[in-house]
Amino acid sequence: MSGIITDIKTNITDEDAYAEKLYEDLIASCSQHVKKKDLKLVRKAFDLAKESHKGVKRKSGEPYIVHPVEVAKIVTSEIGLGAVSIACALLHDVVEDTEYTLEDIEHFFGEKIASIIDGLTKISGVFDKRSSLQAENFRKMLLTLSDDVRVILIKLADRLHNMRTLESMPTNKQLKIAGETIYLYAPLAHRLGLYSIKTELEDLSLKYRHPNVFDEIALKIKDNEKKRQQEINRFSLPIIEKLGRNNIKFDINGRPKSIFSIWNKMQTKNIPFEEVYDLMAIRIVFKPLNPEIEKAQCWQIYSLITDIYTPKPDRIRDWISSPKANGYEALHTTVMGPNGKWVEVQIRSQRMDEIAERGFAAHWKYKGEGSGESELDKWIKKIRIMLENPNSDALEFLDEFKMNLFAAEIMVFTPKGDLKTLPKYSTALDFAYDIHSEIGNKAIGAKVNHKLVPLNYVLRSGDQVEIITSNKQKIQKEWLEHVKTAKAKSSITDAIKAETKDRIQKGKTILETKLRELKVQPSGRVLKKVLPEFEVVTKDELYSKIGSGIIKLDNLRKILKKNTKNKIIRYWGLQIAKSTTSNKTKKENIAPKRKQKFSYKDPLIIKDSSEKEQVNIEFAKCCNPIPGDEVIGYKNPDIDDVLIHKAKCPNAIELMSKEGNYIVRVKWTSQKYLSSLAKLSLSGIDRIGIAADITAIISTELSVNIRKIFIETHDGIFEGEIELYVHNVTDLNNLIMNISKIKGVDSVKRKEEISK
Ligand code: MN
Repeated sequence: MSGIITDIKTNITDEDAYAEKLYEDLIASCSQHVKKKDLKLVRKAFDLAKESHKGVKRKSGEPYIVHPVEVAKIVTSEIGLGAVSIACALLHDVVEDTEYTLEDIEHFFGEKIASIIDGLTKISGVFDKRSSLQAENFRKMLLTLSDDVRVILIKLADRLHNMRTLESMPTNKQLKIAGETIYLYAPLAHRLGLYSIKTELEDLSLKYRHPNVFDEIALKIKDNEKKRQQEINRFSLPIIEKLGRNNIKFDINGRPKSIFSIWNKMQTKNIPFEEVYDLMAIRIVFKPLNPEIEKAQCWQIYSLITDIYTPKPDRIRDWISSPKANGYEALHTTVMGPNGKWVEVQIRSQRMDEIAERGFAAHWKYKGEGSGESELDKWIKKIRIMLENPNSDALEFLDEFKMNLFAAEIMVFTPKGDLKTLPKYSTALDFAYDIHSEIGNKAIGAKVNHKLVPLNYVLRSGDQVEIITSNKQKIQKEWLEHVKTAKAKSSITDAIKAETKDRIQKGKTILETKLRELKVQPSGRVLKKVLPEFEVVTKDELYSKIGSGIIKLDNLRKILKKNTKNKIIRYWGLQIAKSTTSNKTKKENIAPKRKQKFSYKDPLIIKDSSEKEQVNIEFAKCCNPIPGDEVIGYKNPDIDDVLIHKAKCPNAIELMSKEGNYIVRVKWTSQKYLSSLAKLSLSGIDRIGIAADITAIISTELSVNIRKIFIETHDGIFEGEIELYVHNVTDLNNLIMNISKIKGVDSVKRKEEISK
């Protein structure tokens, strides 16, 4: 064999010395799984990797060789694979990133290793390079590539190391990588029984996708640790004593819950941290007297524990008689703890524990020397059977993946296989708007997994969605009830608005023409008479209904002659209160004074509806009041409108001091269905992804819809403006607080521009 060592120039540099240290580390960590005679292979692979990546640095600034060595370490010490896999891990980026070809690899290392490297190069093409990924393609890819499941295992190790070093990546890449990790890699690790890798991937992904959530839960865990340990000790002591007396060698500890799993439970069960965290789980890992009786010993331990604590009926999970599909073996039970709380107890032998943490790869450690990788081959076969199972079509296969998804998000595919992330319970219509607002506006139906469904069909992770459009489609108001995303909601609102604007203009023209025919000058007073007759509350509503033909003006003449009967005033939940002291008679109502005077100082209460004035409510542009704000009304003496200002608005203060007679006290009523427009201005230090972070926060606030967002950057500083619809001040303040927590955001303020 032509040793590559001789082909490589061996000038010793700092990098070489550094690499040599890495190599020693690697050898130390793989001694358990690699026989002496195989070390030569590891050395050879290491040398080629070192040579081919020479001079190249990772994003973190370290020499590139650190990465393949770390991946190799994971492969051996965390997954338990042997020399061939270690060599492949060392070489995994060589063909993709360097001058060396697959033929070179085959020439130096033979067919087996070359085929694994080939698989790794291809798999990274599928996972990383293309954004598109389709359920069926994904399964096919796994099928072809899992000819040797080591490909997938090494890929998982590769991803784990990339996630551990994700810090040095730019933010937008971080989010993409973290997203793929939770969607594909963590479930894959779960499927393969690699529990600890799965958990680490989930936690790391959460850390980058929702850093605040991650930090918050991490902190809470820390704060509660001591108390929890005390509870565990209290529960464990009698068990320790009893098992000890029965000569059982074991470890007992509280099963640590991962940050992700806590968060996931909080989301899916909709319960607070404390409730998730309170559920205690204890794990007992024992050393069997001899391997033959380990199952019997599980039951012995079960029996000893249930002598102390009462078991919950029907809560035995026997995965020792029939292990889970991913190889998991254990006996679970739930018992009543000393403080009246249920405690889950997991009983495993050391072998079972290792399988639970490290997957099937742990099996062959127990089958003695010599069997080596042939035991692994059996495992590979098992995985292949699982993947090839005709009963599990591609989507069902992905079902298993879905279990581990964010509770709050679903991932769906376009017909071309592009992956889209939407909030949970998003509908086909949300999907349409996510692609483009025009697609949404023209949508008439959808095909989900090739089946026709209505637009309000609730999507599930893994669905492939095709939107059917028609140019004849008209936006409907009910659509607002069929969508979940802020994007869809604001697009629909905008489209409806644009449409109404046309109709209002049309209606206004019709009314004015008609009035002119009747020789009546259009005025606020005329409108005031007309509005209640047609049972509408605003001018625009009237115009719009005229414009669309709902209101006919045939009896307009009659109406104008008739006297107005007043109705309850409810404009967007706002009620106008009138002075009790100005106890008007019916007569006065019949002939209303044009310049009715209100006093700000008078105690005002909400009066009986029959005495309400018909007025139009307008919101002052200068201060944009929203429900919950302290407000005052200014009754313009010339027109019938009441203009609502914030009480602290400088314009309002001026009005109060100069025209106090026209100030009316107003009070917000129901705020439930109201959305009001609010403006925020924000600024901070620009970084990639900041806009995405901001919109993500806004769109996760359920009660907020974005109307307009505008962000401008110059010299590394960004300034932006957001217009959004909120229900009340509390929602708005929450939002402001959350946005201000985003990294880079310097200030967020509600915009209360003063313009005359
Ligand atoms: Mn890599």
